[in-house]
Amino acid sequence: MTEELWDVVIVGGGPAGLTAGLYAARANLRSLLVEKLLPGGELLNTELIEDYPGFISTTGRELAEKMDEHARKFGLQIEQAAVEQIRREDGIFVLQTEDGAELRSRTVIMTAGGVPRKLEVPGEDEFAGRGVSYCAVCDGPLFRDKVVAVVGGGDSAFQEGIYLTRHASKVYIIHRRDEFRAQPILQDKARENPKIEFITSAAVDAIGGSQLVGWADVRSVRDGGLTRVPLDGVFVFIGFSPNSGLFEEHLEHDEQGFLFVSDRMETRVPGLYAAGDVRAQLARQITTAVGDATTAAIAAEHYLEDQAFQAERHRG
Ligand SMILES: Cc1cc2nc3c(=O)[nH]c(=O)nc-3n(C[C@H](O)[C@H](O)[C@H](O)COP(=O)(O)OP(=O)(O)OC[C@H]3O[C@@H](n4cnc5c(N)ncnc54)[C@H](O)[C@@H]3O)c2cc1C
Repeated sequence: MTEELWDVVIVGGGPAGLTAGLYAARANLRSLLVEKLLPGGELLNTELIEDYPGFISTTGRELAEKMDEHARKFGLQIEQAAVEQIRREDGIFVLQTEDGAELRSRTVIMTAGGVPRKLEVPGEDEFAGRGVSYCAVCDGPLFRDKVVAVVGGGDSAFQEGIYLTRHASKVYIIHRRDEFRAQPILQDKARENPKIEFITSAAVDAIGGSQLVGWADVRSVRDGGLTRVPLDGVFVFIGFSPNSGLFEEHLEHDEQGFLFVSDRMETRVPGLYAAGDVRAQLARQITTAVGDATTAAIAAEHYLEDQAFQAERHRG
């Protein structure tokens, strides 16, 4: 892997990375995708997908396998490695992997996604995809006329809680404190919504049920009292950490670390792109990830053409 100079190296093999790889390889760019685990990203943690156009109902695993196969068909090379750091040397990007190897590339597309913060309570992992969710847009429609809880007190918790009232018959918002970080307008909207009930100064201690979620144990942080709340779903919105810190220089980002990019998905560093969940944007979905990645790969192609043209003119 060490000597080669790639046109594009893509960091992360979720929907964004595999799409960027498909476009880059199909455009005949020398393209490499580096994924630390298995290609598929968050798709591999998703059971049912009902909102990816063309697939009325599919599983995350099936979609991941199809995206992987599709990208490889056009010649995308995929290596399993974790990228630890990206730096620039004489206009070339150097990517250092965990095992000490160095990759060199003319452009880089960062599609390393991020991870939703977990509650880390008993039952959370066991019931993930069976009532425990980290994405209301993705899973909300599965909870028609059901009772769900949203855990968190920030903008996401409120936005997603309000969204869930379109489907669920009742939405509890459970928060550790009495006060919320969410914008006042969102708090007003939630308070005025008859389907929303607040459980404040309380934390979820455990989630349980039989096949699917059936309840959550909620502990008062004031007096330690425990209440078992019957529920069909638990939506966790206590933060999301983007994997955005790989480039050694400062890149502009929002307060949570999501990267700001131009409409070409380019960071302030020419030739360095970010697409999918790692970038600052309103929606984090498979469709937005593949859209971003398409733009990033085409922008990288144009950038490489411009560079080649400039080099030719310089020589002539
Ligand atoms: C439980 C769950 C259910 C969801 N359900 C849906 C749904 O039904 N519909 C929908 O549209 N969206 C859904 N989403 C959201 C959707 O999965 C994401 O928006 C999408 O996967 C983002 O794609 P991505 O490629 O940007 O990032 P990811 O899918 O997160 O992929 C990032 C990849 O980068 C790799 N990586 C990270 N760091 C490094 C590194 N340093 N070196 C190498 N590789 C690295 C990771 O291993 C990962 O494979 C769901 C999300 C979750 C968590």
